[in-house]
Amino acid sequence: MSLSGKVALVTGASRGIGRAIALELANNGAQVVVNYAKDSAGAEATVQAIQAAGGEAQAVQADVSDFKAAEGLVKATVEAFGSVDILVNNAGTTRDQLIMLMSEADWDTVLAANLKSAFNCSKAAVRVMLRKRAGRIINIASVAGILGNAGQTNYSASKAGLIGFTRALAREVAARNITVNAVAPGFVPTALTNDLPAEIKEATLKQIPLGRWGQPEEIAYAVAFLASDRAAYITGQVLTVDGGLAMG
Ligand code: NAP
Repeated sequence: MSLSGKVALVTGASRGIGRAIALELANNGAQVVVNYAKDSAGAEATVQAIQAAGGEAQAVQADVSDFKAAEGLVKATVEAFGSVDILVNNAGTTRDQLIMLMSEADWDTVLAANLKSAFNCSKAAVRVMLRKRAGRIINIASVAGILGNAGQTNYSASKAGLIGFTRALAREVAARNITVNAVAPGFVPTALTNDLPAEIKEATLKQIPLGRWGQPEEIAYAVAFLASDRAAYITGQVLTVDGGLAMG
């Protein structure tokens, strides 16, 4: 599964799943841009971990919910490493609340960070990929976008939207040898899930056939596969990596 000679851009790679993805792509030989919005120390730690393992990486700040900033991020990637062959739209956030208590800002922030960001980054990256007649886009969705979670109408809608976006874009760019897929993680302990009430965590655990949480690395392995030549004939798919939680 060599990714040597490939340039990868991973959004939201300062910690959690994004950091694991950045490390795994670098372990497979890709040069990696580690994007973050606020957590510069976290992004630098990701870069250092990659370099310590003999890889090449650079941190680039950009709030990917902002169209111009996302455009600048793709430009910075091309300036740093000469191209963008793999885009992983991983950046994401939550503002959980029952709909009666959810503010307009809670809705807008989550939709912009989780869904509009993928449009912003993909639009800029596809321009480069179309010219190369090759590319891989991998969107990090969630089982919440398939099953729906109470208290997460904003988050679930953004992730379901990301799945529709994946399939539509896959059809648009397939003729140019660009694949677009989604990975939908189940429950992975990170900063994003830290604050969930213990009773919700316990109830979710009982519904997971494999009987345990996932690890960030287990999401990263799926992403690295979809980014590789081995996955050349796979496009428009949603790969759930969830211990069987959302199996149809
Ligand atoms: P996390 O630990 O909170 O990390 C989120 C990352 O996204 C951070 O690096 C954060 O960087 C970045 N980010 C947030 N908003 C951003 C923005 N506007 N622009 C650029 N970067 C931004 O969360 P995680 O659990 O690793 O989640 C990663 C992805 O997996 C998300 O899309 C999430 O929805 C998805 N996911 C997670 C789980 C889970 O159980 N953990 C399950 C399903 C799906 P800054 O702090 O610098 O902003």
